[in-house]
Amino acid sequence: MNAPVILRERGQHEVFCGLTSIVWLHRKMQDAFFLIVGSRTCAHLMQSAAGVMIFAEPRFATAIMEERDLAGMADMHEELDRVVTRLLERRPDIRMLVLVGSCPSEVIKLDLGRAAERLNGSFAPNVRVVNYSGSGIETTFTQGEDNFLAALVPDLAEAGPEPRLLVAGTMADIVEDQFARIFAALGIPVDFLPSRLSTTLPAIGPATRVLLAQPFLGETARVIARRGATILPSLYPLGEEGTTAWLKAAADAFGVPAGRFDAITEAGRRRATEAVAARRDRLAGRSIFFFPDSQLEPSLARFLSREAGMVPIEVGTPYLNRALSEAELALLPPSVSLSEGQHVDSQLDRCRAARPDLTVCGMGLANPLEAEGLATKWSIELVFSPIQGYEQAGDLVDLFIRPLDRAKRLEV
Ligand code: SF4
Repeated sequence: MNAPVILRERGQHEVFCGLTSIVWLHRKMQDAFFLIVGSRTCAHLMQSAAGVMIFAEPRFATAIMEERDLAGMADMHEELDRVVTRLLERRPDIRMLVLVGSCPSEVIKLDLGRAAERLNGSFAPNVRVVNYSGSGIETTFTQGEDNFLAALVPDLAEAGPEPRLLVAGTMADIVEDQFARIFAALGIPVDFLPSRLSTTLPAIGPATRVLLAQPFLGETARVIARRGATILPSLYPLGEEGTTAWLKAAADAFGVPAGRFDAITEAGRRRATEAVAARRDRLAGRSIFFFPDSQLEPSLARFLSREAGMVPIEVGTPYLNRALSEAELALLPPSVSLSEGQHVDSQLDRCRAARPDLTVCGMGLANPLEAEGLATKWSIELVFSPIQGYEQAGDLVDLFIRPLDRAKRLEV
């Protein structure tokens, strides 16, 4: 296999920061509360990112650092203790408190690890306190999830000698349920990280075999491996091909006979293939350009080119973890340009020169590109939407058809 040439870009990232991951993480873990230690800008970002969703009892908030905090005139640790104590008294349903670091907390070097340790001392065992950084200085939105999951791993209980599968990476509940049924049919005992409740976090150890549900979990994979667990390399479960390869990696690790695997996955494979085939003519032959945003780009490009017939021109990704993306890169068409990192001006130049039928990018780039007559798709939507697995293959195609249809309607 020829290793594809990768263009390495170095410049400012035009990507949402890791705080944005709270939007999907707080929905997943139902007894967790995410407390951002940040500024009014962070609070504002979270409100807009969460949109108009109305919660009876919201499960995230911002402890706002005022100017005097930033100037070092107040003891931030004391203030944080006060805010947390008030919050936990008012909300006895919270079983996990997640302190999320931001640019301001990082700039003043507020040690949230130390704060979490201290608060654990005060509130254990009723509440578990963990921390991670969602700061825009060091994280993009998907790295926010990676940091959160990595922060959970050291606290996971030690697993026994019986092999179990661990699926790491947040997926919509409906998708997780579908996979849980398939693994049960294959006879593979499975746990999910994150679990829906902080009180049911899975155990981990040398007998654990791990499937990553998302390609952006480099740090999580590293700390999981440190616990002795084995990561099963695979494509990611997008489309029929990706889903089958992903399930097969687990089936092989657990010694499921090929005939049994085929029999159990056959109906799902057929439904996914038919759903994509029914929509294929809307995408086949259309070109697509990915700006670096979610780290899902190589997997999406593989699915769209191999199953939907699209022609990827450039596949940008903010970070490329070769070990975790090898299988995906091997299946990209040889004509594709791969880029890692971001240099937004030169990428915009290349995109304008290529005039792709569809451009996948962040919200900040979408409006100017639309104004220039290019159809765009917001990449962050692909992280929010249920797209993995056989039953979602048709919906995944629809997510790319919609902006093309809209562009066509505008032309008319
Ligand atoms: Fe902005 Fe940094 Fe706060 Fe994110 S963490 S909203 S980038 S100030």
